[in-house]
Amino acid sequence: MPVCQNCGKEWTWKQTVKTLFKLKCPHCGANQYESASSRRRGSLVGLTPLVLLGSVN
Ligand SMILES: [Zn+2]
Repeated sequence: MPVCQNCGKEWTWKQTVKTLFKLKCPHCGANQYESASSRRRGSLVGLTPLVLLGSVN
C-alpha cells in the first residue's frame, strides 16, 4: 500500500482506491502524486508482454 508523502502514514486499500481520483491523503489532507512503488508496479506490468514476446523470438 502507498504511504503519504507528507505524514508518512500508510493508506488502506479502500483509502487508496478513494484517493486514486482525488490524490489527497486521508490522514493529513496533503496532495499526493503517484507513489514510486505503484509506478514501479505499473511499469513492470507494462513490460511483461514485451519480455514474453522477446522470449518467443
Ligand atoms: Zn498524510
